[in-house]
Amino acid sequence: MAGSLRNVDVGDLVERTRAGDIRAVARLITLVENDSPVLREVAAALSPHSGRAQVIGLTGAPGVGKSTATSALVTTLRAAGSRVGVLAVDPSSPFSGGALLGDRVRMQDHATDDGVFIRSMASRGQLGGLSAAVPQALRVLDAAGYDIVLVETVGVGQVEVEIASLADTTLLVVAPGFGDGIQAAKAGIIEIADVFVVNKADRDGADQVARDLRFMQSLGGPHSTAGAWRPPIVKTIAARNEGIDDVVAAIGKHREWMQGHGEVARRRRARAASEIEAIAMGEVRLRFAGVHGSAALDAEAAQVVAGTTDPYSAAADLLNLLRSRSGA
Ligand code: GDP
Repeated sequence: MAGSLRNVDVGDLVERTRAGDIRAVARLITLVENDSPVLREVAAALSPHSGRAQVIGLTGAPGVGKSTATSALVTTLRAAGSRVGVLAVDPSSPFSGGALLGDRVRMQDHATDDGVFIRSMASRGQLGGLSAAVPQALRVLDAAGYDIVLVETVGVGQVEVEIASLADTTLLVVAPGFGDGIQAAKAGIIEIADVFVVNKADRDGADQVARDLRFMQSLGGPHSTAGAWRPPIVKTIAARNEGIDDVVAAIGKHREWMQGHGEVARRRRARAASEIEAIAMGEVRLRFAGVHGSAALDAEAAQVVAGTTDPYSAAADLLNLLRSRSGA
């Protein structure tokens, strides 16, 4: 497969992607996932055509209803005329390419709608990991003319939080019976949420969850400073499409607030910075892997053991070696 990927006609693929050809979009995202050698060219060709899509992240514990809410959001956004992309990101799974999401019955509702592109992505050992791959996939969907891209993550781990925070607006989905707001705060996700969605409002305990969140907000934190955005709490019954309009309205208000505060630009710079960092770190790791087990590393290790050098100086020597090898 790697061989065939090298023979890609990037120009043609990019042109078809920009025209919204779903197969070309899928192909480009596969190139991103496989860390294809043509990615550099793809990124260069796409960059001038990106920056328009609105990215919305959904995060929260497994089972709270993220995928149901994602599907309901797709329905509502489509009804309003937007073209919608969905990336379901699972940092804990080595599988990707749509299998996980394709199995989800609700997403099948959108299977025949060519204004919707749905794809799951997992860790595949890309150069910079998912922190590099997700922004690249976002750029592909952006260039393909999707007005809104929903990025759904499976859980509430560190990587999920990192990915969700790449969004223009991040939704934290919670539900009764899945741990209250206090637990969410412990996981460090309260800070990155722009909108709290209390799903399963048809269940007992939803009001309590909303009260807990309000209480957490009253305790202070990044949202309590003067003029800061105060994340609204929206109740939904995603399984019945109820409250989804309110979520869309809250996202709209957040967007307006961000536009008035230079926050859209700031977030996009942060997203680009984390992508650049992930690519650069991946490159360093790759080069270091070439050094690992080499005579140079072995010699430095022997010197550290003998006490003739220290690990910091040895690491500095190795970094110098990598630098000289890269011809910089
Ligand atoms: P995820 O793991 O966060 O993506 O959660 P899912 O979307 O897969 O939903 C988990 C379960 O909760 C499924 O059985 C859904 O049908 C159910 N569910 C989703 N939304 C609601 C809701 O608003 N009310 C109730 N009672 N169940 C819901």
